[in-house]
Amino acid sequence: MKILFCASEAFPFAKSGGLADVAHALPKALAQSDEVTLMLPLYRCMSFERERLQKMAEKRLSFGGADYRVTLHTLQYAGMRVVFVESPPLSERDYLYGSPGSAYGDNDLRFALFSHAIAAFAQEERFDILHLNDWHTALAALFAREAEVEGKILFTIHNLAYQGVFDECRLSLLGIAKRHFQMDGVEFYGKINFLKAGIAWCDALTTVSPTYAKEILTPEFGCGLEGFLRLHAGKLTGILNGIDTTLFDPRNDAMIACPMKRKISTFKKCNKKVLSHAQNDLPLFVFIGRLTEQKGVDLLIALVEELASLPLRFYFLGEGDPQIGMWLEQMSKTYENMEYYSGYDEAFAHQLYAAADFLVMPSRFEPCGLNQMIAMRYGTVPIVHAVGSLKDTVHATGYRCGLGLPYTPNEA
Ligand code: ADP
Repeated sequence: MKILFCASEAFPFAKSGGLADVAHALPKALAQSDEVTLMLPLYRCMSFERERLQKMAEKRLSFGGADYRVTLHTLQYAGMRVVFVESPPLSERDYLYGSPGSAYGDNDLRFALFSHAIAAFAQEERFDILHLNDWHTALAALFAREAEVEGKILFTIHNLAYQGVFDECRLSLLGIAKRHFQMDGVEFYGKINFLKAGIAWCDALTTVSPTYAKEILTPEFGCGLEGFLRLHAGKLTGILNGIDTTLFDPRNDAMIACPMKRKISTFKKCNKKVLSHAQNDLPLFVFIGRLTEQKGVDLLIALVEELASLPLRFYFLGEGDPQIGMWLEQMSKTYENMEYYSGYDEAFAHQLYAAADFLVMPSRFEPCGLNQMIAMRYGTVPIVHAVGSLKDTVHATGYRCGLGLPYTPNEA
């Protein structure tokens, strides 16, 4: 099949979370048997040398009474063709996203532009499957339908908490016809909801785990879209995400100090030694992730006195909510065995997975979550809330690190 896979981020080009891991691993795996094109925005902050890109085409996209200059670039990567969409409003940023009111309050225009570019590209080159992911690409389902693009549209929800909700007054600027601003279209309590376009106009709808597929149909996890999702439940399936086991491979990971050989205990001891301050004799707990209410890091902060009094070390790596960041800074200053590393650091995350004994993931909800899968791959025991895919992936019995190494209770 010819597949066009579209996302706002994909490792190794741009990554802010699990979407990037999946937008790398899934098309790469599909490319072993199918003809896959991965389409991404080109961001100024992307991590690769621009000389590697080949210019494919220059275009003008006209919508909302304006013309936008768009340049398509390409490179071959992991058996697939990657196509980058460059256009000044979309690309000239130091970060991938921003929130309304911040310097990046024009995310609606940026990702509507990306979605128009996707639909135009899908119209030019015929694909069997147009696979759209999350709200950033959801409008492409509507634009592709309007352009009568051939092939089937698959839309995947990676996290229902992010829907791309914007003011109604932006409708015509974004090139969305007024007739679609109604309950069975993009209208959502008087605002425009990008995610609804993906749900409404796709042929098949997936989410990233079987449990989350059920949860999102309920008021507790439906984020206000449970009714709309129930209407479209006939085309909804939950398919569990996976990780790229060659990228997250403790036997062969250039980012960690000591590769895994035979014994997990030796692997842990050696990797712990290279982390500053880590005392080898204390169990090491880590939290790695976005600092948001979803990830439940505040639940750990509430327990900090109790945790700090135990014979353990606890490392936190993350960025996000400034308030949570301040609490973690404070905690790190107060307690000698609690450390906070602010920021996004791929290599350090790998080092933590390798060194830690336990990964703590008290998420309030979790569509899939990759941290717990990566942790298990590195012989790190995940401690998780029984929600979403954490229920599908972490089992109370039979912990194994997934490498087929001999399992002994002592080592676990
Ligand atoms: P999310 O909800 O953020 O997508 P996932 O568990 O699905 O969460 O995936 C998170 C991915 O991002 C994992 O690869 C994890 O290691 C990585 N990650 C999260 N925060 C950081 C950070 N601060 N530094 C490095 N990697 C991070």
